[in-house]
Amino acid sequence: MKIILLGPPGAGKGTQAKSISNRYSIPHISTGDIFRKNISENTPLGVEAKKYIDNGQLVPDSVTIDMVKDRLQHDDCKKGYLLDGFPRTVAQAEALQEFLDSRNEKLDTALCIEVPSEFILERMTGRRVCPSCGASYHIKFNPPAVEGKCDVCGSDVIQRKDDTVDTVKERLDVYERQTQPLIDFYKDKNLLSTVDGTQAINSVFESICKVLGE
Ligand code: ADP
Ligand code: ADP
Ligand code: ZN
Repeated sequence: MKIILLGPPGAGKGTQAKSISNRYSIPHISTGDIFRKNISENTPLGVEAKKYIDNGQLVPDSVTIDMVKDRLQHDDCKKGYLLDGFPRTVAQAEALQEFLDSRNEKLDTALCIEVPSEFILERMTGRRVCPSCGASYHIKFNPPAVEGKCDVCGSDVIQRKDDTVDTVKERLDVYERQTQPLIDFYKDKNLLSTVDGTQAINSVFESICKVLGE
């Protein structure tokens, strides 16, 4: 199964991706997580990406597309994958399409988690993440069992540097201009499915399983 997740920042893509990846035994590939790992390891890719991420801008397509193509050729992707945070521009979607075509492969679905913008600021500013395993929490809607500690691996959870009010507003703007057009891109290909992302986390997951067919 090959799935891409669409939806604004804060829609719950990362949160749902963990559950989908477990349920369907496919790797969860988050471009944001790959960039953040590179930033923490101070690699040349990380140094380049940080300039954009800290300002809420997208990392340039050339860098991002090569990184994803490389990742999709790892052995664990043979059984399928779940892309979270990619594609984010029409150029990225076209590059992914070319990559799939060249291998005679197809996407199963582009799943959009729909959440209106008025929900986003509270979700993003209350988000806490685990820097070790990438798990996502929320101080009000999904707090860890032990305050400040990741449920999965026990590391201290942190607030992302780009989850401040100003950067979130910029990211929403970027989303509307550059990523929202992908909804029509996939609708035109008859690949778009949608779920209501304003429900509780578990209910969103149930809706997703219905769409994907259990
Ligand atoms: P994305 O990957 O789309 O940016 P996340 O999965 O990191 O989004 O979720 C953003 C924030 O919203 C996190 O703090 C998460 O715990 C919280 N969240 C996710 N889904 C829901 C939901 N259905 N209801 C309330 N809060 C949610
Ligand atoms: P969120 O789910 O909260 O929007 P991500 O973790 O997916 O955040 O991404 C964090 C940042 O990493 C983005 O704001 C952007 O700067 C960069 N990024 C992630 N994916 C891409 C992509 N496909 N193209 C360009 N930049 C990206
Ligand atoms: Zn963790």
